[in-house]
Amino acid sequence: MNTVEKKLQNIKDSLPDTITLVAVSKTKPIATLMEAYTAGQRIFGENKIQEMVEKWEAMPKDIQWHMIGHVQTNKVKYMASFVDLIHAVDSIKLLKEINKQAKKHSRIINCLLQIKIAEEESKFGLSKEEAIALLESEEIKNLANIHIQGLMGMATFTDDQSQIKAEFEKIQTLFKHLKQNNPNLKTLSIGMSGDFKIAIETGSTMVRVGSSIFGSRNQA
Ligand SMILES: *Cc1c(COP(=O)(O)O)cnc(C)c1O
Repeated sequence: MNTVEKKLQNIKDSLPDTITLVAVSKTKPIATLMEAYTAGQRIFGENKIQEMVEKWEAMPKDIQWHMIGHVQTNKVKYMASFVDLIHAVDSIKLLKEINKQAKKHSRIINCLLQIKIAEEESKFGLSKEEAIALLESEEIKNLANIHIQGLMGMATFTDDQSQIKAEFEKIQTLFKHLKQNNPNLKTLSIGMSGDFKIAIETGSTMVRVGSSIFGSRNQA
């Protein structure tokens, strides 16, 4: 077994069957992704649209591509024909553009709302109040070509396990609350290489794991 295959297997062995594993392959070459593909992995996450398009063009078509990075409105069109799930949606403006581009391809594009949970100053993500207002807005009901299927969050980059846990609990509580009026919400995308075990204890249904599968990204 090669290293990617071994590491992938180790991660899978530590995940309950109900958790979806997104293999975060940003900055890695196609040959490396193909090692994971050959080992059975079919969901890959990228954070740059151009890079994801290049990999989508070159790789087998039964792969599900997840956009996990911040999305600029003017770039949605490049991925609208194939993207499976957009994790970091944080405005009605972006949702409208995704809806418009999805419609052109007669598709329904799955989206997650990114929630700001980290204490550190981060630019992206909705507050709890903003997420509630967005899901209840009239505007969103007219967007027939998007499907909001859950929430995504990133904890503070810290060794303090209790802080990470507290931040994940914040989004888990919001997720449970929103599900009462939005039974379609099924995905809670929390957990990366350093914190996916805590995320799973805190209700994660989808983890985004990069370096623990593909090795560190020195150049990133
Ligand atoms: C890079 C990235 C990951 C994966 O990070 P690792 O620590 O390498 O597992 C997960 N989520 C997002 C949004 C990322 O940008």
